[in-house]
Amino acid sequence: MGKNVQETMTSPLVWHPQTPAEAWHLKQTHGMDGVYISGGTLLRTHWESGSAAMPKHLIDLSAVKGLNEMRVGETGLLIGGQMSLQACRTNDFLLCHFPMVTEAIRGIAAPSIRQLATIGGNVASHIGDSLPALLAYDAEVIWFNGTAEQRDMLADWLRFANDSSHGMERLLLGIQLPFYGQSEAGEDDADSEQAAVSKIRRFCAYHKVGRREAFTPSVVTGAINGALSNTGIVKEIRIALGGGQTIPLRLEDLEKELTGEAVDPKLLQHAYNRILQLYEPREDLFASAGYRKKTAANVIVSELWKAARNEAQTGGGSVCS
Ligand SMILES: Cc1cc2nc3c(=O)[nH]c(=O)nc-3n(C[C@H](O)[C@H](O)[C@H](O)COP(=O)(O)OP(=O)(O)OC[C@H]3O[C@@H](n4cnc5c(N)ncnc54)[C@H](O)[C@@H]3O)c2cc1C
Repeated sequence: MGKNVQETMTSPLVWHPQTPAEAWHLKQTHGMDGVYISGGTLLRTHWESGSAAMPKHLIDLSAVKGLNEMRVGETGLLIGGQMSLQACRTNDFLLCHFPMVTEAIRGIAAPSIRQLATIGGNVASHIGDSLPALLAYDAEVIWFNGTAEQRDMLADWLRFANDSSHGMERLLLGIQLPFYGQSEAGEDDADSEQAAVSKIRRFCAYHKVGRREAFTPSVVTGAINGALSNTGIVKEIRIALGGGQTIPLRLEDLEKELTGEAVDPKLLQHAYNRILQLYEPREDLFASAGYRKKTAANVIVSELWKAARNEAQTGGGSVCS
């Protein structure tokens, strides 16, 4: 592995590991003085704003082999953590099968930043705007534990984000999006597929609410992905919310409460009230927790209502197939 020459006392040493094992070893060696860096677009905002000191060692992951590609497997789509947001955004397969992820990335920063920024950095930050979309597709994270690759549900990875024994030391390699959520609810038998199509209607939508239309930090990010019977019964549903500095989460209790129920005004009111209870956003100078809760509830409930009326979209206008 290479390293650059330290030019001044304040410049960090930049390491260029070639393998996950080398990167992981560097992190173990330098501990809190060493920081993984992918595109560096989020990290630099911390240094520039003074909210974090420049670390002594930067462990640049861009040269680690095999992390800058997308692979279609039998069970899902594997996105390498070093893929730029721009490469993800322009990938037709991702758009076709996981349109909410494309939609989420479309709303992150600006084109010049998306050229550098990576999907891995967005996920590893624990607050990236892609996270609710990934959560609503039941994404898994693949990470290196020092000896082997390990898989976790993204929802679990985020649940332990603030636990120092789990969170910050892990080296993220990629994200896997399973295909099973793309088939009809519970139906993978080819013969029954045609019949299921007539009975089940899938829908999904992603929304980022900011303080202006574009190039804006999120106030609320929300994703909903589900299936309804032709009589309006919820067959399956995933709801994820994040935004701002809030670590996104799935509303699993609400998902269970909605499943098997008919979408009617009573159910929509129930969903609205439960989102106010279950979503606990962090507030800041720009938006209170109360405002964020109401915004999230409006976004999700309106999409559920539209789904029941067969009007669901991915957000931003493209119809989700
Ligand atoms: C002007 C501007 C606007 C922005 N707007 C948005 C926005 O709208 N939405 C949004 O979500 N983000 C936004 N960002 C933040 C940032 O660009 C994105 O979150 C981006 O995806 C981060 O990716 P990166 O590769 O640059 O991460 P980095 O900055 O390299 O890293 C981010 C964090 O993840 C850790 N990390 C990186 N890779 C790994 C890995 N493989 N394993 C373990 N840890 C890792 C780093 O140590 C760091 O803590 C914005 C940034 C700027 C400068």
